[in-house]
Amino acid sequence: MNKLYLYNTLTRKKEEFKAIPPPAPLLKGGGKVGLYTCGPTVYNYAHLGNLRTYLFEDILKRALLYNGYKVKHVMNITDVGHLTGDMDMGEDKLEMEARKEKKTAWQIAEFYTRTFRYDIKRLNIMEPDIWCKATDYIKEQIELIKKLEKKGYTYKTSDGIYYDTSKFRNYNKLSHLPLEKLKEGARVEKNQEKKNPTDFALWKLSTPKIPLTPFEKGGKKNRQMEWDSPWGVGFPGWHIECSAMSLALLKNQLDIHCGGIDHINVHHTNEIAQSEAATGKKFFNFWLHGAFLNIAGGKKMAKSAENFLALETALIKKGIEPLAYRFMLLQTHYRKPMEYSEAGIKSAERGLEHLRNQIRDLTPARLSEKHRHSCESRNPEKRMAKVKLFLDPRFHGDDEFSIDFKEIFLAAINDDLNTPRALAVVQEVLKSKLTDEEKLAAVFDFDKVLGLDFKGALKKMKLPEEVEKLAEARQKAREEKDFKLSDELRKKIESLGYSVEDAKDGQRIVKK
Ligand code: AMP
Ligand code: ZN
Repeated sequence: MNKLYLYNTLTRKKEEFKAIPPPAPLLKGGGKVGLYTCGPTVYNYAHLGNLRTYLFEDILKRALLYNGYKVKHVMNITDVGHLTGDMDMGEDKLEMEARKEKKTAWQIAEFYTRTFRYDIKRLNIMEPDIWCKATDYIKEQIELIKKLEKKGYTYKTSDGIYYDTSKFRNYNKLSHLPLEKLKEGARVEKNQEKKNPTDFALWKLSTPKIPLTPFEKGGKKNRQMEWDSPWGVGFPGWHIECSAMSLALLKNQLDIHCGGIDHINVHHTNEIAQSEAATGKKFFNFWLHGAFLNIAGGKKMAKSAENFLALETALIKKGIEPLAYRFMLLQTHYRKPMEYSEAGIKSAERGLEHLRNQIRDLTPARLSEKHRHSCESRNPEKRMAKVKLFLDPRFHGDDEFSIDFKEIFLAAINDDLNTPRALAVVQEVLKSKLTDEEKLAAVFDFDKVLGLDFKGALKKMKLPEEVEKLAEARQKAREEKDFKLSDELRKKIESLGYSVEDAKDGQRIVKK
């Protein structure tokens, strides 16, 4: 049996993952892992750094599924309460963007939620089973704050209700930092009324400081997003939403909670403090954190910084397909910082295409001689014969390839999601003595975790438009037996970095 080991920030160790046994009535269908991943604050496009974190979480989810677990994955959408300053200072990011774009905060949230979902789709990141918006769970957040108030963990200031971190033992258990260090970090933004620098807002009162916008009818409201509460009109703090929603949706199945490393010292530390104080029970067994994506010079990519690169601007507009970024990310372990560069993404693009070509070159013996040639053909209809065969579930049952390789691949993934090693196993399979048929079965199986869409790659041999046009002209020349023109066109195609092979049934063009 190959056990799954994950690095747990809580213990600073790689630990064997064991799901919480479900309560008795659920035992029959049991074995579901509860996974909560902190989602985007929807006031801007996701940048490539954010997407790195969501991709590592996707690999985690796929690894759990590959190990036979059922997964209940919840991701939140932060559409209220995340302020420009991490220590509850500054302005709500959504309200700020609404004013800038002259839209309502709801419109901002809807637009950037849509673009986020589109981005993750393009990266072949699986959607969570449940999306939840902070604004849909105001009641649950108020209830949780009421519980904390009853237990004596809260106090009131002129701008809201705060959590008293000195009342929670082991406040630093996730960060592993001395309390003094945490306090130092929190002192950056001063709030004279806080009892301790690490205290944080549970409920913020609407204040009249913010200028009014045309959307605030009659100028009576201070904010667009505000609700009644036992403490006055206002809005929830950022941290309480993740506690309230994970508890409401995963209940006792609090197995794994994830995010980027910047969430360790504040957001996740506060989530633990308020949830465990309210429930008296442990809040999530495993805490996993992905390292940063940096730009040249080791500077973190951030929404607020000038180095902001979105999928659309950095890749799509430059004709680079999103899966090249997925491939690039898989080459670095999720806990290692990584630098993004244009040269890096271009090299990943070439690497992915090379890998696809290795897979396209595999020809299962089961294909008839006729099909063997057809599949080399540029004729899409004929190539579909090969694709159909590949996609037939009878053709690549799980056990059709060497069990050894499956074990080796699983060992890589189960070693704290070692994707660079897993990619190396793909190469080992391709270079092995397995039959082509077995190789295909193996890489398709591994792709359940890698998500590089190897099957899709077979359907589509992507050629640049210019090469595509030359190829069409050459095909026509060959059909018309104009070999002089056909040779000239071959040279042109080759000068663009592609090699041309002629088969009985057509030509085959691959990147050199
Ligand atoms: P946000 O939308 O700012 O709440 O961030 C969404 C997710 O992206 C969080 O899990 C962050 O920890 C993560 N994140 C932010 N910046 C980076 C970065 N440069 N590299 C990797 N992850 C990041
Ligand atoms: Zn969160």
